[in-house]
Amino acid sequence: MNYKNYINGSWHDAKSGKKFSVENPFNQEIIAEVPDSNFDDINLAVSSAKNAYLDWCLMTAGERRDLMRELANKSRENAKDLAKTISMEMGKPFAESLDEIDTVADFLEYYGELARDEVGRIVAPVDSKTMSLVRYESTGVIGCIIPWNYPLALMGWKLAPALAAGNTVVIKPSEITPLSVLHWCSLIESILPPGVINVVTGYGQSAGEPLVTHLDVPVITFTGSVVTGKKIARLAADNLKKVSLELGGKDPMIICDDADIEIAAQGASWGGFVNAGQVCTSIERIYVFENVINKFTEAIIEEAKKVVLGDPFAKDTDIGPMVSKAQQENTVKKVEQAVRDGARILTGGNIPKNLGNGYFYQPTVLDNIRSDMEIVTEEAFSPVLPIQKVSSIQDAIIQSNDSIYGLGCSIFTKDIDRALTAADDIKSGTICINSPLMENIAAPFGGMKQSGIGREHGKEALDEFREAKHIFIDYKQEAKDWWF
Ligand code: NAD
Repeated sequence: MNYKNYINGSWHDAKSGKKFSVENPFNQEIIAEVPDSNFDDINLAVSSAKNAYLDWCLMTAGERRDLMRELANKSRENAKDLAKTISMEMGKPFAESLDEIDTVADFLEYYGELARDEVGRIVAPVDSKTMSLVRYESTGVIGCIIPWNYPLALMGWKLAPALAAGNTVVIKPSEITPLSVLHWCSLIESILPPGVINVVTGYGQSAGEPLVTHLDVPVITFTGSVVTGKKIARLAADNLKKVSLELGGKDPMIICDDADIEIAAQGASWGGFVNAGQVCTSIERIYVFENVINKFTEAIIEEAKKVVLGDPFAKDTDIGPMVSKAQQENTVKKVEQAVRDGARILTGGNIPKNLGNGYFYQPTVLDNIRSDMEIVTEEAFSPVLPIQKVSSIQDAIIQSNDSIYGLGCSIFTKDIDRALTAADDIKSGTICINSPLMENIAAPFGGMKQSGIGREHGKEALDEFREAKHIFIDYKQEAKDWWF
């Protein structure tokens, strides 16, 4: 496949002619080259999206729903091919990549339908024979900036509510995983009018920033790191642009002494190691009641040792390589720093020797942890679980809240009072009781504190992509004294 920018329904090289290559993290093979785009390419894509907006926003929600259903069907029909592209460029196991395609299709179906209901409301009138309508209107061209850890699913999270609300989009995928989004566009190109979806590949500074600062893009929806999120917020502020920011996390898991330790350890292993720990809602800190910490530690070590690392296309693989050499090196550095700070490696802590030149890292469990260590305060985005003991639920809540992040949190207990106290008092966008982090398409997803601004999923996501307008109607048509 020839991977080019997808603009106005056709395929374009970067105007500069420049390209960069995309690597398979399992074997370091170069699998494709894509346009290294800059302002000129972004500008072309934005003007294409702006032209397409004129007709797309005038369609009925039902007409858009029908087209979005076709996009969903096409995604499902081609799920295996698309999943192959995700696993090749990102390294995650094939079954997990298939799940991403399901997510994209689900989001397209869900928002296509939801936008037919969620069009506005009538509020109490201020006077007799008057009416106040609140109408939710589309905003225009939405700039979508996407990270590499879920290259298609996270596109779906943004694209589906944006389109359903009547907007057109310009998508800038991660420079590390641009192929899945382009592959998907090649499958759906005959379904939508040209310009409704545009994709421009490139690096953050040269392609992402021109999208953020473009005057014809009123909304930026971004998923990525806190550092980049802050930069985008600063750039967007110059034009008072609306931003939604889905950023990093340092999600705590609390294990109480009445929890089923085996189930909690299985949940911690999955929540900490799935996708090689490269999930914004990965379990990144574990707080265990002191009277069960030994039992839990034994159980989590056992679970960590069971995790199978390997070829993303092998049936028994649980986790593939990390996405890049930089990501692997980052993990090595984080664990080395933790050890220098006094942590003890209970299992893992190395690059495995028997897996060729893929960017693997062993599932790792650490103890001897203090709250001021970097491995507790900074997002690792790695398969590393630091364990600390706590003396009570209050202690666990204090530790959990002692963070700049507030994305998710989970608690394992059979005591409903403890569970709901944690749900009340922990500042995070999601709280899961007796489960590692779970999402629900119909429930808002997002972060408090520095984990972000705005929400994805549910009806809340539609609001990120539309404006509320008040329409006042006086149907008395009588003369009136307006002056106070
Ligand atoms: P990143 O911030 O490095 O990059 C994300 C995207 O932003 C990429 O497309 C990149 O090219 C672009 N970008 C970089 N600099 C830019 C700039 N100056 N202007 C505009 N765009 C720019 O993040 P990443 O390494 O791709 O992803 C990992 C991070 O994403 C982690 O911190 C993770 O927690 C976070 N994440 C959050 C969620 C969530 O929903 N909260 C989901 C997935 C990932």
